Amino acid sequence: MSAKLRMTLWVTLMVLLLCVFVLVFVLVLNSREIAGDPIRDLVDTVLENANDVEFDNGHFQWDDLRVYRRGVYCSFYDNEGQLLLSANREDMDVSNFDFQPNVLRTVSLNGEKYYLYDAYVDLTITGIWIRGVLSTTNNTGVMQTIMVLTVTLLPVLLALTFGGAWLIAYLSLRPMERIVDAANSISDGSDLSGRIQLERGPKEFRRLGQAFDRMFERLEQDFLTERQFASDASHELRTPTTVILAECDRARRKARSPEDYRKSLTVIEEQGQRMSELVQQLLELTRMQHGVDRYPMREADLSTFILSCCEEFQTLDSKGIQLHIDVTEGVRARFNPALLSRVIFNLLQNAYKYGKENGNIWVRLRREAEAALLHVQDDGIGIDPTNMEKIWHRFWQADDSRGVNGGSGLGLAMVREIVEYHGGKVTVESTPGQGSIFTVVL
Ligand code: ADP
Repeated sequence: MSAKLRMTLWVTLMVLLLCVFVLVFVLVLNSREIAGDPIRDLVDTVLENANDVEFDNGHFQWDDLRVYRRGVYCSFYDNEGQLLLSANREDMDVSNFDFQPNVLRTVSLNGEKYYLYDAYVDLTITGIWIRGVLSTTNNTGVMQTIMVLTVTLLPVLLALTFGGAWLIAYLSLRPMERIVDAANSISDGSDLSGRIQLERGPKEFRRLGQAFDRMFERLEQDFLTERQFASDASHELRTPTTVILAECDRARRKARSPEDYRKSLTVIEEQGQRMSELVQQLLELTRMQHGVDRYPMREADLSTFILSCCEEFQTLDSKGIQLHIDVTEGVRARFNPALLSRVIFNLLQNAYKYGKENGNIWVRLRREAEAALLHVQDDGIGIDPTNMEKIWHRFWQADDSRGVNGGSGLGLAMVREIVEYHGGKVTVESTPGQGSIFTVVL
């Protein structure tokens, strides 16, 4: 059964139940009016009035008498049949009928039938006739009205409820079908750029549509990034593979002396080494991005750690670059040493690679509020402002650095990934021709 039908049936059933409750309630409240004994009411009212009537100081006391009660109208006449008091409606003038004490009669008046009951009270000084009149259709009238209303209005009410509930359910759930259609067409086809773009409909569905659109957006982004990554990775691996194959071919056809073979092997080894590094970096990056590996963090002395990393690095310099280290002592932080050494290594390596001959590199560490700030600054070639964001992308390299320094374009992507893994942030400021400052906030 569809949700629409369920909702509609539920609402209709509830309205039906409500009507039944109201009906029962009305019937119970008016049970005396509907199901009581009207003739008894007539006789009782007249007799009670007969009991209560008083004649004092030449006047009747009307205050305690009931001229109307539950459909019974009472009139009071003197001994001569003169009307003293009445509450009868104009069309119910029963004054012309003879008085017959304590007899229940049925009389016809203006085509209507009435019960009539008279009582005479002898008050010694004077006497009084009390006449009660009651329409014979009195009780059935209320019941009939209720039944007619119930029989005619209830089906109309139920039909309106069913129709209204169905319409609301249909209109409310229509956007859901659009969402399903859009999701199906996106998952069936190869076009990930489709969006639901629900502009009308209930607020909840618009929010659902927006949530789906955001999800599709992310999926598309991820998918495109992955595709770009796969194509970049294969492109990067293709160069060393081609070199290796070409070198093998050359060696097989041209090389003669052991020296020639040795040269070829060196080339192949270098390219193999490059491929191995690339694959290793890719693997680490992917693992970190997908959270495959857990890297334990511990609190340690960051100052000492950075000093030891810089020391190791200094020995690799071949450009005559001066390394200036200014590290505040005793800065502590939570980090994973293996990962963080990769950050420092990559930043220093870039500073050397893109630094000028006999230039300078400054490494500074200091504490600021709750954070540890690490700056790696060089006075090298700098970065073009248009490339500031691109340098963090995997495999991206400025054209003039491509191939020259043997990099892969993965270093900074890795740096950012590791720093974010530590809950930190890495930024760069640079002026082309003057140098760059990379800042890591942990
Ligand atoms: P790689 O150094 O292997 O090419 P990276 O991801 O480390 O890859 O860097 C990406 C690009 O950012 C580099 O190719 C280079 O163009 C630029 N870059 C990185 N560090 C610096 C720097 N200190 N000075 C100038 N350019 C830099």
